[in-house]
Amino acid sequence: MRSGAHDAEPPAALADRIAATVARPQFHSCADEIPALGGAYLLLLRLQRSLRPDLKAFANLRLMPGWYVYCGSAYGPGGMRARLKRHLAPQKAPRWHVDHLSLAASTRIAVPVPGGSECTLFAALSSAPDFSIPAPGFGSSDCRRCASHLLLFRTVS
Ligand SMILES: [Zn+2]
Repeated sequence: MRSGAHDAEPPAALADRIAATVARPQFHSCADEIPALGGAYLLLLRLQRSLRPDLKAFANLRLMPGWYVYCGSAYGPGGMRARLKRHLAPQKAPRWHVDHLSLAASTRIAVPVPGGSECTLFAALSSAPDFSIPAPGFGSSDCRRCASHLLLFRTVS
């Protein structure tokens, strides 16, 4: 399959919400064309079945089917490309909270934001309509600003 800058399609309503926060967002299902630069990113994950992540800190958490948006950043070696290659991979040894979601997701889409901040992205999206915080603390263990770095888009699948 060819991979292009716009090779993946989230629901139009979700794409519109993201376009209000990220200028000219590019939706990637493959990391090959993502720049190996430092930056932030959004990871769009679709759960088609509810998920109980195998995480002690979230023992009673049940994530309902729907589209989730994880806000992250990658300023280390390989930048956004290396990090998003991992996030988009269907198989991986779980390391971060969000890995449990990406492993269970039926669709994984990355939106790179060169030079961006995951906390700024989270703040902008979480104040927009249609987003809720499904699991306080999820994905934001190393952040003192945000309630979470994971959002749920609406509540329908
Ligand atoms: Zn944060």
